[in-house]
Amino acid sequence: MKLISDLNPRSLVERSLDAVWHPCTQMKHHESFPLIAISKGKGAWLYDENGNALLDCISSWWTNLFGHANPHINEAITKQLGKIEHVMLAGFTHPPVVELSEKLSALTKENLGHVFYASDGASAVEIALKMSHHYWQLQGKPQKKKFVCLENGYHGETLGALAVTDVAIFREAYGALLQDVYTAPSPDARKAKSGENADDVARQAAKELEQLFEKEHQQIAAIIIEPLVQCAGQMAMHSPEYLRLVRDLCDRYEIHLIADEIAVGCGRSGSFFACEQAQIWPDFLTLSKGISGGYLPLSLCMTTEKIYGAFYSDQTQQGFLHSHSYTGNPLACSAALACLEIFETEQVLEKNQSRARDLADAFAWAKTDDRIEHWRQQGMILAFDIKRACLKNPSAFPRQMFSECINEGLLIRPIANTIYVMPPYILSTEEAAQMGKAVARALDKALS
Ligand SMILES: *Cc1c(COP(=O)(O)O)cnc(C)c1O
Repeated sequence: MKLISDLNPRSLVERSLDAVWHPCTQMKHHESFPLIAISKGKGAWLYDENGNALLDCISSWWTNLFGHANPHINEAITKQLGKIEHVMLAGFTHPPVVELSEKLSALTKENLGHVFYASDGASAVEIALKMSHHYWQLQGKPQKKKFVCLENGYHGETLGALAVTDVAIFREAYGALLQDVYTAPSPDARKAKSGENADDVARQAAKELEQLFEKEHQQIAAIIIEPLVQCAGQMAMHSPEYLRLVRDLCDRYEIHLIADEIAVGCGRSGSFFACEQAQIWPDFLTLSKGISGGYLPLSLCMTTEKIYGAFYSDQTQQGFLHSHSYTGNPLACSAALACLEIFETEQVLEKNQSRARDLADAFAWAKTDDRIEHWRQQGMILAFDIKRACLKNPSAFPRQMFSECINEGLLIRPIANTIYVMPPYILSTEEAAQMGKAVARALDKALS
């Protein structure tokens, strides 16, 4: 008997290019750079259909925390699969969602004790925006309905989240669909002039934010920020001082602080929540990406007793009437619980300090390379920029560098002229060193 695949000799990649519309991609570029069919993963490594190994230096878009095919997470999901795969969360509950919510609240020392679930990061951002907006209506201040976001910030690509995103390439075509927002200066430490440091930039950015709040606070519901690192905005890092100053301004002007920790949360910045490094808590905190260890779509928005309380009423429409079909999915929650267990039992945050040093050592060469500027690191994120003058074709550089890295056995996806690594928290010292050397070789080729 002939199998359909024998009759149809086209490769998986060709079939994918015909049938699958890939995300964040100009599909025509695949005429000249490869689409890679992955058949399995193990630890920090991905394997293509021909058995070639790729070191996953960016945790599969910042989601993977403890490696691919992690035995502990696999087991937790399999166990849950034998119990209940999914049940609606309106009117029902189940052990994984309760345990996960309790554990996360405890990690905020009960400051953010109420957890609302969704499936992807952008939806968690929408939830925070809607809750803030609705809260001010419930407080009799319906005019507080505008949002402040930061220059170079990224919060997802659905219409509400895109409105508070300041990355031109994602917004350009959709401007007419987006609500008006205020955009405040980024505290990006790369802005420091000679003699200034990251704290000076933070204070200057906060000062300009204060002027905006002073003038417009009666119209403003919330400010949304990515604490410590604006990841999609080229891994722009800032001082925790900025978070302290913004928390203080939000208190003074009655404005909610939304901390979008979708990328920097779950230990990525060095602490479990990035906000902990500034010793502040926001009014809303969003998580996604790493929360399920890169296994299943799961996102959430945590908030305070005060905000939760404002919605608690006999009136149906005073409730937060927002839902997604897969809200609080038990399999995804069990994956997240397995991750939190690994954090506890394996002292991940402590061990990541030495993993972060391994990364720094592996990329020490880039600190003195005169093609490179703004070498920076925050926990398990390390980034540097290629000087514009060294790029012959800046718009093609990310794809060239991506391809050279693939040839070197690395998954790296530069953002414009920024090269970054954001590996899973299982990387060995040897793997880190291998990564650093291979990136150096790939860069030589991409710039030649
Ligand atoms: C990725 C990301 C989002 C969006 O998450 P999706 O799951 O891609 O919708 C939002 N905010 C930040 C900071 C992110 O990095």
